[in-house]
Amino acid sequence: MIKFHIITIFPDMFTSFLKYGILKKAIKEKKIQITFWNPRNYSPYKHKKIDHKTYGGGPGMVMLFLPLWNTLQAIKKTNHKKNFIIYLSPQGKTFKQKKITYFFKKKNLIFICGRYEGIDERLIKNEIHEEWSIGDYIVTGGELPAMIFIDAITRTIPGVLLKNIVLTKESFSQGLLDYPHYTIPEKINNFSVPKILLSGNHKKIKQWRIKKSLKKTFLKRPELLKKRNFTLKQLKYLNKIKNCMKVKK
Ligand code: SAM
Repeated sequence: MIKFHIITIFPDMFTSFLKYGILKKAIKEKKIQITFWNPRNYSPYKHKKIDHKTYGGGPGMVMLFLPLWNTLQAIKKTNHKKNFIIYLSPQGKTFKQKKITYFFKKKNLIFICGRYEGIDERLIKNEIHEEWSIGDYIVTGGELPAMIFIDAITRTIPGVLLKNIVLTKESFSQGLLDYPHYTIPEKINNFSVPKILLSGNHKKIKQWRIKKSLKKTFLKRPELLKKRNFTLKQLKYLNKIKNCMKVKK
């Protein structure tokens, strides 16, 4: 079981997120456990204060050291296993599909959701193991990033997804984007499903899907192809696409 400890002043933001789909199932089947820790409950200050103005002047508030530090101590008391403490921050390493197994192995993950201008730097320097980001943009708080981490990690736990969903075929898992998908009806507004998918010839369908994955990746995310090895057949196909593109130009 993976244990997620979420330090947030807005735990209610997670209520509906955890009520549906794979998250609900994973909690029910005890594949994951999520505990919320509100730093307000650990604040030694008047009115359970958790933020204050930034030293040196300037706009915005900063999350105070002590309420967060006390929260971390409270979590550590409940846990005998090693904790891995993450501060969700736009300044952190960027989260990628291939990094999921890294978190997967940690088992006891503590996520600190920042708010305002962020948290006191001394906590980052002395208590945090790593800073992680969801990408080069700023969101208002660490709660949405925490949900993204929980969701992406949980869906890779064996037995969480339906049996017929194969993770290794999804975008990024093999360094390629997913192939195109179609569903009923066979024809709509004059648009038809590619004939090969109706043929029942699984070998040919598999080949078609690999080609489509290669083509999509080449057209949408060509940089992914640089990090991947190919079979001779796949290389020939890629060259064919490249030549076609040159002719079109
Ligand atoms: N002043 C900070 C900066 O410019 O680096 C941004 C603070 S942001 C408004 C408030 C909080 O949202 C952060 O402390 C962090 O926890 C979270 N956050 C914002 N963008 C994020 C991102 N891209 N990845 C992870 N967390 C993020």
